[in-house]
Amino acid sequence: MGRTGAYLQVERREHDVRPACEAVADYDEFALPLSADEQREQASRCMNCGVAFCQSGGIFDDIAAMVGCPLHNLVPEVNDLLYRGRFDEAYDRLILTNPFPEFTGRVCPAPCELACNLGLHDDAVTIHDNERLLSDLAWERGMQPLAPAPSTAPLVSIVGSGPAGLALAWELTRRGMRVRVYEKDERPGGLLVYGIPSMKLSKQIVRRRVELMERSGIDFVCNADATQLASQILAESDAVVLAAGAGVPRDVAIEGRELAGVHFALAYLGEVTRAQLEGREAAIDAAGKDVVVIGGGDTGVDCVACALRQGARSVTQVIRAQRPPASCDTHELWPAPRKVYEQGYGQREAEELLGDDPRLWSTDTIGFAGSGHVEAVRIQELSYDGERHLVEGTQREIPAQLVLIAKGFLGAEPALFEAFGVGEAEHEANAHLLCAGDEGRAAVYAAGDARMGATLVATAIADGLACANEIAATHA
Ligand SMILES: Cc1cc2nc3c(=O)[nH]c(=O)nc-3n(C[C@H](O)[C@H](O)[C@H](O)COP(=O)(O)OP(=O)(O)OC[C@H]3O[C@@H](n4cnc5c(N)ncnc54)[C@H](O)[C@@H]3O)c2cc1C
Ligand code: SF4
Repeated sequence: MGRTGAYLQVERREHDVRPACEAVADYDEFALPLSADEQREQASRCMNCGVAFCQSGGIFDDIAAMVGCPLHNLVPEVNDLLYRGRFDEAYDRLILTNPFPEFTGRVCPAPCELACNLGLHDDAVTIHDNERLLSDLAWERGMQPLAPAPSTAPLVSIVGSGPAGLALAWELTRRGMRVRVYEKDERPGGLLVYGIPSMKLSKQIVRRRVELMERSGIDFVCNADATQLASQILAESDAVVLAAGAGVPRDVAIEGRELAGVHFALAYLGEVTRAQLEGREAAIDAAGKDVVVIGGGDTGVDCVACALRQGARSVTQVIRAQRPPASCDTHELWPAPRKVYEQGYGQREAEELLGDDPRLWSTDTIGFAGSGHVEAVRIQELSYDGERHLVEGTQREIPAQLVLIAKGFLGAEPALFEAFGVGEAEHEANAHLLCAGDEGRAAVYAAGDARMGATLVATAIADGLACANEIAATHA
């Protein structure tokens, strides 16, 4: 795209032409081109509207949110092939840009649909559901593994097996490199397994992909904390990628934080899934309890949904933000996500089961009460006048025997980066390549949430693919 809004300032100007009396006297071109600078100015007027917005994936400065598909999926082409019933071709077109549509077709919040032109005047195309159908059909037909790399190929070690690590492993294998994935959890998958709950993504879907990757020669080493194994990994590999996610949680520093029964959301969600996979009772259980979830994001929604499934007596979600309006301000900058009141699946379920949307808007958590174990959460209302203020005289306690802190993530574990010789400045530079290797020591890269901070599955996959491109260009 050219310069934003340039078409408002620069007028169209075509090339000049030689005077006709002169031009007809020979066979030379009659056009008199503009200078390079004049032509560049003309090019700046382009609005890129010939390319569908849905596949434009990027963060617009004014919006500060992902708009369009981060993987740049060839959405209109895929949709057209699907419409014509050419399922194999549609799937093949889809995986040109997205190796794992079985994940995104289930969990992606579909920023592509927010950017769908049809959505301006009507409801957007069901891009996300289309993707899922194509991947389901492809798996039904049967998936073929990649050809394993020869034992002489360069070895890339990947730390972390979330969507970024899996995308790196798949793409590097496809390009003929050997791949070993170190994962500190007991199963590969990262947040696809131990974050996103099974009702959004069945763990069987992750397992069958990992099995296909194993059949492609990818070596998964689980229960392996790479921070402890850094020197061995650096010595044995040609390149190392830190794709370890951004799992350091944001805490609340308030009275009573040390009480039993107060947990980080991810510890809870991970335990719920672990217990399911191991066929046992979860060690953190909401059954019969009043549950308070602190934080209004998607992780909070997953906590609400899991607590309901465990048989919570009540669920309350405490949210600092103000309740958004029911309808959209039509002057909002398109295609920014609309800030309107919506329910996630957990809130919808809570309302149906317990009679109310669980969210307490404009409310802060100011402390926990209890002796040894949490018994109540102290809350206070907030007012906004451009800034946030606690409202005097609105303090109260709500009963809680289980509290889940879902206030987002601070980033990657610094100790891992230190163990691989990456200083703070290199990490913060935000590039894929963090340290170029030398004789006997691998180059170190970062990808996914570990590089960018908490994002989306599709964004993490896209970053894994971009990092794999860089590695293959240097090391293959
Ligand atoms: C609860 C929750 C729900 C979400 N739901 C959605 C959703 O519905 N849709 C969506 O698009 N996005 C969702 N996200 C965001 C999405 O899951 C992440 O952006 C994505 O998984 C990031 O991928 P990643 O590969 O970079 O990191 P991760 O998925 O975090 O994987 C990192 C892996 O590295 C491993 N690791 C860390 N340290 C080490 C170490 N020292 N040694 C070895 N291994 C290590 C971890 O165990 C983990 O397996 C959700 C996030 C959360 C927390
Ligand atoms: S990966 Fe997500 S954003 Fe991209 S096309 Fe699929 S649903 Fe849309």
